[in-house]
Amino acid sequence: MTNPGVAVITALETYDIRFPTSREMDGSDAMNADPDYSAAYVVLRTDDASGLCGYGFVFTIGRGNDVQALACAALRHLVVGRHVAEVVADLGAFARSLTNDSQLRWLGPEKGVMHMAIGAVVNAAWDMAARHRGKPVWRLIADMSPEQIVDLIDFRYITDALTPAEALAILRAAAPGKAERIAALNSLGYPAYTTSPGWLGYSDEKLARLARRAVKDGFRTIKLEVGLNIEDDLRRCRIAREAIGPTVALAVDANQRWNVEASIDWLKQFAPYNVAWAEEPTSPDDVLGHAVIRRGVAPMRISTGEHTQNRVIFKQLFQAQAVDLIQIDAARVGGVNENLAILLMAAKFNVPVFPHAGGVGLCELVQHLAMADFVAISGSMEDARRRRIFCANAARIRRTLPLSERCRLDSNPSLMPTRLGWSPARDCKARELTILLAK
Ligand SMILES: [Mg+2]
Repeated sequence: MTNPGVAVITALETYDIRFPTSREMDGSDAMNADPDYSAAYVVLRTDDASGLCGYGFVFTIGRGNDVQALACAALRHLVVGRHVAEVVADLGAFARSLTNDSQLRWLGPEKGVMHMAIGAVVNAAWDMAARHRGKPVWRLIADMSPEQIVDLIDFRYITDALTPAEALAILRAAAPGKAERIAALNSLGYPAYTTSPGWLGYSDEKLARLARRAVKDGFRTIKLEVGLNIEDDLRRCRIAREAIGPTVALAVDANQRWNVEASIDWLKQFAPYNVAWAEEPTSPDDVLGHAVIRRGVAPMRISTGEHTQNRVIFKQLFQAQAVDLIQIDAARVGGVNENLAILLMAAKFNVPVFPHAGGVGLCELVQHLAMADFVAISGSMEDARRRRIFCANAARIRRTLPLSERCRLDSNPSLMPTRLGWSPARDCKARELTILLAK
């Protein structure tokens, strides 16, 4: 029986896991030509009699995954030896203790490899807390009171955009309909979109075939990677539009390919294809550049977020009216806590959220944040239809995921995650997780 009152965290284990996805160009785009989807995987072990553990990871695309795993291991002194009860009772304090380490903070602050490592460990602690409470992570968040959720958030640097009182008001306004929304999720699921047809390295024939299959599978939005060659992009948009018909949405993603002026010139040429949104046209750090692009291509919608490093940059994107929608990523910022801050700011600024995923395990993680957002923050079915979860279900990647409950977003609506903690968690043995690239 679980007895976290006396249990302590005994180990923070890390694993460098890599998959040779570049062999079939799965995941290829204008800036990442040959990604090998990888995870720096974290396991928090405890001496609890039930075998309670917590699992988290950072997604990378190959080289440097060892560096990322070392960054996760650098947090051991802040984690090992802590009482489980203390951690799961105050996940806000736990997250702040990691981001505020006086020496590690120099490696950010709150951005890059060290911040992503903190996100993995914070997410592992959330997994441990959810398992302890016998719930999936989305339900753990959804069942919290507005006051408990506000206590999770580090408001440092964002109170000029969102105060704790404003966050509390948003959460309280969403509280009355929680039970109905949970019931709606359980019966209807949550809509997803897919990029599976649109990787840049795929042939025209494969693009058309997979686009038709996506529509047949029920997806109402697909996304194409663009940005290497405008003639190729326009031809691929035409092929995709012919395959999916006029009513299925078509988004494009440049993965930071262009300068500001080139973004405007290039994106204007997509107008005949009724693009649902244009994602990451330029540097993820260029807040004012995104604002210029947005004004330059309106009414085409501009988005970014999967590489947005923290809540401060998201805050500026909202304040500068630089984006029409955002992508959050479960393994880019400092874990659940920082993503809740971003979701609350998005709610205040009325910016829709289309979560980013696609890499190993990311779909499985981010679905919990999207569902918690719908139940406890954004709070309306209209938003649920507008807010979609990114699903990359290239068969090769999915076959090799080290997951206990693979993301079931093959169709729309998706099915609800029911396992405890994050869906991707499983008890990992070093031998089975150390899958080396055989190139
Ligand atoms: Mg993207």
